[in-house]
Amino acid sequence: MRPALVLLFALIAACSSTSSAKKSAPGSSPGSTPTPAAESSSTSAGPRVLVVTAHPDDEIAFAGLLYKVSSHLGGTCDLVVVTNGEAGFKYATLAESLYGAELTDERVGRARLPEIRKRELMESAGYLGIHGVRFLDEQDHRYTTDIEEVLGPNAKVWDLARVRRELDAVLDQGRYDFVLGLRPRDESHAHHKAATALAAEAVLHQPEERRPVMMVVQVVEHVKASPLQFAANDGGLVVGPFVFDRTQKFGHQGKLDYRVVTNWAIAAHKTQGTMQLFVNRGEREEYFLFGEQRLEGARKAAELFERLREPQFESKQYDERAESGAARR
Ligand SMILES: [Zn+2]
Repeated sequence: MRPALVLLFALIAACSSTSSAKKSAPGSSPGSTPTPAAESSSTSAGPRVLVVTAHPDDEIAFAGLLYKVSSHLGGTCDLVVVTNGEAGFKYATLAESLYGAELTDERVGRARLPEIRKRELMESAGYLGIHGVRFLDEQDHRYTTDIEEVLGPNAKVWDLARVRRELDAVLDQGRYDFVLGLRPRDESHAHHKAATALAAEAVLHQPEERRPVMMVVQVVEHVKASPLQFAANDGGLVVGPFVFDRTQKFGHQGKLDYRVVTNWAIAAHKTQGTMQLFVNRGEREEYFLFGEQRLEGARKAAELFERLREPQFESKQYDERAESGAARR
């Protein structure tokens, strides 16, 4: 891989804090009920996708896939967000006047951001066609790459038993075809690595006959193929990347692409100032099979991504009057 090209959404606004804080009181925010985010049918015949992330804004990494699964394939996309996002106060400068609070003050930010960022996420979810969002409201304590701090034997940041129970219940109820997380790397935020690891555990708890295919994503800046990767012990099973190209063209004269909706979702996260600088960046979402890998999983992934390459919008012809805004032919 080429780390320089990888846009680690991991390491931006929502994920940065230099000091720790005490765990907030459980149940202090409206939480654990799935909330419809957009009009989509939970009984539709398309693929059922669950994304598990650490922070409200991590869903941006999956934006193109989520949008097209819900709007083109008639699928259902749900989201579980493990933390309350309270540590995302450092780059909220320009959102302070919008929300009328000194959000960059750590005390104010930690108190106000959980509620504000829920609303920002629900706006983003609406643009991306995410159907249900479940907030687990664990504390977004600080930026660290040390996974032990979150999942280790002495970790006390999250109520891990509760998170595991919640994820098991979501998977039991959702009967998902695919479960997606952020691709863990050594340098990733420990919250990201932990959310992905907990999702993978929950996938393995599902009975084999209906176990979802798990994939992890990384977003790369330019459309330039990463080398194919294979499972070491399985006779050349392709594990990725399965690619969602956000620059697939459509619309009049092919001038639009899926970065447009990604930008809408980014813009919803007003408190996350550095996230805003990712507008129009990240041309390619690369997905890799994760955890237990099987031929069947690779086949289902290949099938999904083939469908995601289909043209979504029919191209329309306009007559000359359209140039002055006249009706479409
Ligand atoms: Zn994050």
